[in-house]
Amino acid sequence: MDNFDHSKVYFVGAGPGDPELITLKGYNLLKQADIVIYAGSLINPELLNYCKSTAQCHDSAYMHLEQIITMMAEGVNAGKLVVRLQTGDLSLYGSIREQGEELEKLGIGFRSVAGVSSFLGAASELGVEYTVPEVSQSLIITRMAGRTPTPELESLESFAQHQTSMAIFLSVKGIGEVVDKLMTGGYPSDTPVSIVYKATWKDCQILKGTLADIAQKVTEAGIYKTALILVGRFLGEEYHYSKLYDAEFCHEYR
Ligand code: SAH
Repeated sequence: MDNFDHSKVYFVGAGPGDPELITLKGYNLLKQADIVIYAGSLINPELLNYCKSTAQCHDSAYMHLEQIITMMAEGVNAGKLVVRLQTGDLSLYGSIREQGEELEKLGIGFRSVAGVSSFLGAASELGVEYTVPEVSQSLIITRMAGRTPTPELESLESFAQHQTSMAIFLSVKGIGEVVDKLMTGGYPSDTPVSIVYKATWKDCQILKGTLADIAQKVTEAGIYKTALILVGRFLGEEYHYSKLYDAEFCHEYR
């Protein structure tokens, strides 16, 4: 017997792709789940190998919200352990709130299990830090407006004014427009940009360039989805040693 609460649905962050980048808790849930509903367009199917042979796994790419909720509710009501597996971490572009609210209407609660977001997987692929002393100490996580609009005060142009590190989700298809907005907003055209396609997957692809030439590189590579646009001087040459490991600095903060 497992010690998970079968009266609730477990939303689990699957990590960015590498099946070893799910948390131990997520792994244990997959191992014991009776029903797994996974977001097929982004989840690495190898993760489903962790499930027991009797588990029913369903790709939510072919389902709409109501069908997903019905399947979850039927599972929970039958005393089964139900897992909703979503890419990266649930807290970014995860749509868990609408699922949670629909479940609540049926008197069913949920628990969330954190995952490794793709922006973290992308940084590890590149071996970089978003925060570089004296270069950038902030990271803006955003997207370009698409079918889902973004609030007016959150335009790429306005964020670009800060010239800090940026991780742009869900936007590689419109790379030309992204570049225009970032330059209009204030980044110089020689600002470094990396595109990380399928971070931490075996077929990961990385493109490096600047705002001046990245759009062309993306077009040539034919990348139009499952990629992050990383922008900022954290990707460049400038670097200063941090004070953290400075011999003069006290150990308490290390
Ligand atoms: N919750 C997810 C994001 C879901 S939105 C997370 O935390 O990562 C889907 C977008 O995430 C994609 O369009 C892409 O921009 C990005 N993405 C997801 N997995 C990715 C990966 N392995 N490599 C690069 N980008 C990825």
